[in-house]
This record gives sequence, C-alpha cells and structure tokens, in this order.
Amino acid sequence: MKYDYMARMSRACDMFVWGIDSGATTIEELDIPALLAKGTDYHASLLPKVHPELIVALLKPKNSQGIKTFSIALRDYIEDLGRRIEQEQPLIGVFPTLPLELFYGLDVAALLPELFSLVIAATYKTGVEEELDASEIEGLPGHVCAFQKAPLMAFQKGLFPKPMMFVKTTAPCDSSNITMQYTAHQLGVPLYGIDSPYYSNRRAFKYFVDEIHRMIETIEKATGHTMDEDRLRQRVEWTNAYMSNLYKLFELRKNRPIPDPGMHRLLDLAALMMGGCSENLPKYSEVTYNEALERQQKGISFLPEGKKEIRTLWTGSMFPYALYLGDWVEDMYGSTYAGCGLTNLPKDVLGVINTSSVESMIEGLAWRTFNFPMHRTVMSHTDVYLNDMLTVAKEIGADAAIYAGNMGCKHSWTMPKLLSDAFGEELNIPTMTMEVDWVDGRFTPRDIVLSQLSEFFGTLA
Ligand code: SF4
Repeated sequence: MKYDYMARMSRACDMFVWGIDSGATTIEELDIPALLAKGTDYHASLLPKVHPELIVALLKPKNSQGIKTFSIALRDYIEDLGRRIEQEQPLIGVFPTLPLELFYGLDVAALLPELFSLVIAATYKTGVEEELDASEIEGLPGHVCAFQKAPLMAFQKGLFPKPMMFVKTTAPCDSSNITMQYTAHQLGVPLYGIDSPYYSNRRAFKYFVDEIHRMIETIEKATGHTMDEDRLRQRVEWTNAYMSNLYKLFELRKNRPIPDPGMHRLLDLAALMMGGCSENLPKYSEVTYNEALERQQKGISFLPEGKKEIRTLWTGSMFPYALYLGDWVEDMYGSTYAGCGLTNLPKDVLGVINTSSVESMIEGLAWRTFNFPMHRTVMSHTDVYLNDMLTVAKEIGADAAIYAGNMGCKHSWTMPKLLSDAFGEELNIPTMTMEVDWVDGRFTPRDIVLSQLSEFFGTLA
C-alpha cells in the first residue's frame, strides 16, 4: 500500500485478526514468530510499536471477537479506498460527521482523516505524536484539536494521498473548521462547507437537507460522477443492519451487570464514521450483540468474580489513545461502560433509514449527520447535551459519571459543571472531571490518568 497512514492501519488489522484467530487468550500464549510468519517485514516492524496493553486486552475472550470483526470491516474500508485511489477515482476528504454512504453512492473515494487519527492513536504507543509535534513547529497552537492537526501534517509528509477537495459540516467546532480550512489551503484544494444550523427544529433540518443536496451537486459537477440509487441503497442497508444491532445492544446494557464490554464503545463510534463501508460492518455489531445476549441469558458476567459493578457513564468519552482503558477499569474496579457522549445514538431519534428512494435515503443520512454525536450536542443549546446524558444515565441506571473532556473541545468546557450539578441533584451520583487530549497521550500522562481513576473508583468501592 502506497500511503503509510493507510498501511499502518490495514496491517495492524491483519495482525489483530491473526493473533485472535491463533486462539491465544493472553500475550504469553501468543506465538509471535508464527504470527509474523504470516506477514511481511513491514508487519514485523509495526508489532513492537503497538500498545502492549491493547494486545493484552484484545486477546481476552470478552473482547476478542468484537475487535476481530471490527478490524475486518476497518481493513475492508482501507483496502477498498486503496483500490479506488489506484484506479484514480476522484478522492474527497470527508469530515466524519458526514455519511460515507453518500460517497459510495457517488462512486468516489472518500478519505476520513480523523478516523485515522483515532485508530492510529488507539493502536500505536506513539500514535500520531510525530505529526502533532510537526504541526506545532509549523505554528499551530497546542490547544487546537489533535484529530485534525495530525492529518494536516500527514498530508504534507505524503503519508496520505492528496484529495481533490474537502467537504465538512460547519459543526461541531471552530477548531476543526479552522484546521480544515488551513489544510485545504496548504494543499491548494477547495473546501466545501455544509452549513450546520444552530437550531434543531424542523425548519433547521430542512435547511440542512438542502445543504447536503448542494454538496452532492457540487461533487457531481466536480467529478462527473452521479448518484446511483442501487449503489446507495446497498450501503445504507448495511448501515441499517449495523444500527439495528446497536439499538438492541443498548437495550441489553440496561441489565445488571452490563453484559457488553466497554472497549466496544469507541469501536462503535469509528464504525459509525465508516458507515456502509463493507458488508462486514454489521457483522461487528451482530457479534457484540449476540455475545452480550448470551451473557445476559445465562446470567454470567465478564467482570472478575466477586467484583461489584460500578455502572459508569462517560459524559465526554473514554479516550481513543487508551482504547484498552475500558478493559482495565472493568478488571480493576468493576467499572462497566454505561455509555458516552460520543456513542449516544438513541433509536427513538435516529431509527433506521427508509431505503424506498434516493430522496428518502439522502434525508435519512442527513438526519443521522444532524444527530451525529458531536454535531447534535456541540453546535446547539446545552440542554440537548444535558438532557441526552441525563436520559442515558436514568435508562442505564448509572452509578457514577466521568467527564474526561478533550482539551481541544474548548466549546464544551461549560458542560462538566452543569453535568455534575444535574447528576448530583437529580440522580445523586458523583462525577469526576479530568482534562485529557483524546489523541495525544502525553497531555495527561497515563500514570496520572490511572491514579485519578483509582482515586475516584476507590471512593465508590
Ligand atoms: S473532538 Fe472536539 S475539538 Fe475535536 S473535532 Fe470533535 S468537537 Fe471539535
């Protein structure tokens, strides 16, 4: 594969699948020479760079099949993207609030730069640190969101292919808007902005659907490709199947103990970004749902024996750079993952997309973007975020909340106090607030994160 950012992820997916398929359930059982014999020197060069805690966590039976099926779908997305680039299809840089299905319907290649920031940080010990440091040398402030700064430098270093244009909703934040404008400017390509209204009423949504139509027309004019109904329907049907499992999984999470491990939540977010990428995407949510259903029906838990459950709502999110943390807090403190601000996708709001016509599908996809986690809650009144989190906390029966806010999300730092007051007053549950960089593990070093979590959970045990 020509571009290193894409190869880094695709080859990591290979190794995750091989490792899990080997049957090893601990890092000690892993036959590393046999695993590397399946790959190339490039695979071998990557393995020592993977977070060892991630390898430990992904081999555990509670996590392994979910991570394996997710890795297969992610690899499908990257390999398909690589093929389209080789075939010289028009390449569009897409902000991840936008539905990938539309780009498959248009038969163009769609690169999701932020998805790579997320998964590379989650996979490798030094993640995207080199690119982040380079962006600061270039003059970008340290407090600007790392999700976009890393791709900016990856483009400049040739680790990513150069798109012919970028498309982006103006939500969620100034940080992403300005960095994407700068990236487009540096690469000398246009950025098409889809105006996201502040309001969430019917009039605002109608305006937003028109904006999505204008984006499609712009791409059609720029590329000569047109929307094909059957191509679009195929992709939307895969996402509908994926989402249906996710809704059922949410219902299962209301059981005590929660039967679905916490590491899946960030994968759910990444999977939503890659909506419609492959027929293997619904298999990921099918596996996680079936495993959780089996645990619930048999009355078994993945928590260590005798560990009291602490149902924890992450009102921001658990951090992508420490994907393994979901596993660690379960085993250490019995903290299960009740939900988070980045994976809150209520069925009664989103539902599934009506596939009867191109128009119904475009409207359904626009509705999903309108309610995409960061889009719905960031560029809006604080009541939306507050009510969403209170609703989840009540439905799941949260025992505690953690606001691990991304330092780049400056617009959201009014929320922790409002959230902790509401949780204290309405539900009588405690909240811990901590500041992290979701992509750069150096901002709040791992030891500090672990000691803060230990202190918090220690008071609840
Ligand atoms: S993580 Fe926060 S700062 Fe970064 S793009 Fe999302 S809303 Fe913006």
